[in-house]
Amino acid sequence: MDVAEFRRRGREMVDYVADYLENLEQRPVYPDVEPGYLRSLIPTEAPLEPETYEDIMKDVERVVMPGVTHWHSPYFYAYFPAASSYPAMLADMLCGAIGCIGFSWAASPACTELETVMLDWLGKMLQLPECFIAGTQGHGGGVIQSTASEATLMSLLAARCKAIRWVLASNPEKSEAEILSKLVAYTSDQAHSSVERAGLIGGVMMRKVPTDNSYAVTGDILKKMVEEDKAAGLIPFYFCATLGTTPSCAFDHITELGPICNKENMWMHIDAAYAGSAFICPEFRHLLNGVEFADSFNFNAHKWLLINFDCSAMWVKKRSDIIGAFKMEPLYLKHENQESGLVTDYRGSNELNQTLLKRITKSREIHLVPCQLSGRFVLRFAICSRSTESHHIQQAWRHITQLTFELLQEPAH
Ligand code: PLP
Repeated sequence: MDVAEFRRRGREMVDYVADYLENLEQRPVYPDVEPGYLRSLIPTEAPLEPETYEDIMKDVERVVMPGVTHWHSPYFYAYFPAASSYPAMLADMLCGAIGCIGFSWAASPACTELETVMLDWLGKMLQLPECFIAGTQGHGGGVIQSTASEATLMSLLAARCKAIRWVLASNPEKSEAEILSKLVAYTSDQAHSSVERAGLIGGVMMRKVPTDNSYAVTGDILKKMVEEDKAAGLIPFYFCATLGTTPSCAFDHITELGPICNKENMWMHIDAAYAGSAFICPEFRHLLNGVEFADSFNFNAHKWLLINFDCSAMWVKKRSDIIGAFKMEPLYLKHENQESGLVTDYRGSNELNQTLLKRITKSREIHLVPCQLSGRFVLRFAICSRSTESHHIQQAWRHITQLTFELLQEPAH
């Protein structure tokens, strides 16, 4: 597809999507297909010759649509809302075009900065305490996760790491494995299955706290369980509260539970995946009272906030708890095959190469990142874009050569 066809097909796709959504009510909300229906409708192997775009779009109606459950049909009342909106769809298209991967600030500064500032906006709309807002004197901030399940797991792993360090500080003779076997986490018997799964992945005991007759966890029952477990030599370290449970939208009593967790040095995570968007409404904000006791809080903007999947917003009170738990030395750069690969030749001192890279970066004509190989600072040249042609590489090479030449002319080198 060239750029002219992309413009044409893009317009057609917008029309297809608009027609789909405008006429969604006419389609049956739930598909009438049997398991395995799709295999018989398409070839068993990927075609060797390309198909026309028109044929592929016909297949969307012939093959895909009959098996789609239409989550945006006005007759869809299952599971939970999956938000979608025209602006969010357009934004997704732009994201696809920019197509950057913002795993660090330097990988694309706008990603990190926009994410931080947008989560501050959102956090202020929810009236989160200042300690959760990045642009304040506090130590917290927000981060986007794919799903609430991921946010729960993150919080559990961070809490686990903190608890192990804390126990080791006063019992250095204990092994990490010994401590791990004593750690115990708690959540409501109404909690989403992802909380239990986080316990399985984190390798810690997860105890289900029985709920009252409104399906909520109260302070007295958690307190009793924690005391029993401590008496049995266990180490309570984590409680996942739910504000808006999946089965019945019940709310745990976090104003009672929070002080217990704080006193017992237990991490309190609040999973508000389903109901959290509602706290933006002043009339529902009181349901979030007690969030000030939490170490982390999460809700799914992709459920009620008109943002397409995936956008799960998570805030932590202390950024360092999360960063500390997941920070790693990049060991992959120290693997046994580090002598092999890209590197065909190595010239100059580490210092010289570092200076050269700084100048390359400052020039903004090309962009490289370094790596460490056998303790040497190496400039990595990876061909990344599908639009790179040999003349671009030659130009890049001339640029590097020119900067190297200028550097070597300087008396210090
Ligand atoms: N927690 C609650 C309370 C939920 O209702 C859900 C899903 O509905 C989840 C967690 C899981 O959300 P996700 O699919 O984003 O992991």
